[in-house]
Amino acid sequence: MKRDIVKKKPENGGKGLPDPHLFLGSRFTALHIKYALTPSEDNKTAAMTRFWMGSYLRTLKILPVALKSPVSFNLPKEYSFIKTFLKKYLLEQQDVTILTNHKHLVSFVQDREPVSPVPGLTLREATQVWRNAAHPALQNRHKDLSWMVAHEILPVRAVMHSRGMAKNPICPRPGCNFPETVRHLLWECGAARDLWAKTGPLYFPCLPAGGAQLGYQLAILGVGRGLKDLTAQEFTSLWLTLNVIKDASWATRNLLVGKRVTVPLHACELKVTSMLQGYRTTIFGRGGRGLHGKVPAATDPGRP
Ligand SMILES: [Zn+2]
Repeated sequence: MKRDIVKKKPENGGKGLPDPHLFLGSRFTALHIKYALTPSEDNKTAAMTRFWMGSYLRTLKILPVALKSPVSFNLPKEYSFIKTFLKKYLLEQQDVTILTNHKHLVSFVQDREPVSPVPGLTLREATQVWRNAAHPALQNRHKDLSWMVAHEILPVRAVMHSRGMAKNPICPRPGCNFPETVRHLLWECGAARDLWAKTGPLYFPCLPAGGAQLGYQLAILGVGRGLKDLTAQEFTSLWLTLNVIKDASWATRNLLVGKRVTVPLHACELKVTSMLQGYRTTIFGRGGRGLHGKVPAATDPGRP
């Protein structure tokens, strides 16, 4: 499918639209500033770069003024690109360590991007939500699911009804007469609550110590108090588990709506464990070592 126009806003929450200009520009800039700072006197590349960029880098106080070495007064076209680039992204006052590393340049610019708000969360938490939705360990389908959930645009009946695409907004589960919102589907509906209760043993060991409660924001968006005590690996295990459970809820609901198949709870639980097993094999190799890598409590010598 050919897309000429991107309608998504290129901000945080726009699901990391690639920005080739920023990517290539930061590589070019970092590389050439690094050349200019190469200390060796005999290095011709360094000497040429210092000559052509010298006057500009001196005004930025990156290069010391040395009267012995000549510099060009005007930037050639290639290097005036660097000047424009640094000006455009307001990077001229940055430290040399940032200016000579393209990854730092990119993340510096991306950190300043405006953040799409998430209902009920502060902007700081919203930033974390978007970071979680693009978590590198997640499969693409789980990234998409998290992203749609955070924007509250997963095509559940309440969302479709509000856009004139569903006859009614009511939850399709028999006997459940609540509007099917994203929150209802994943958290409040009886089927979802049963699944969370049933799969507790899977995610409970990954939760932060001190008995943090699994609330909606933690389970569905991956933000909340107590999470900062987790190591990156512990958070990854927890976040993968939570996403697999959300996926199972959504998949069984789609089977019910699309094919009129009711998936029993234990089959749903099996789906969760098999998807987790898949993650284990891709992340930790064929052996499928435990996701959290901890000794089970019963064999922990430190416990009674
Ligand atoms: Zn329901």
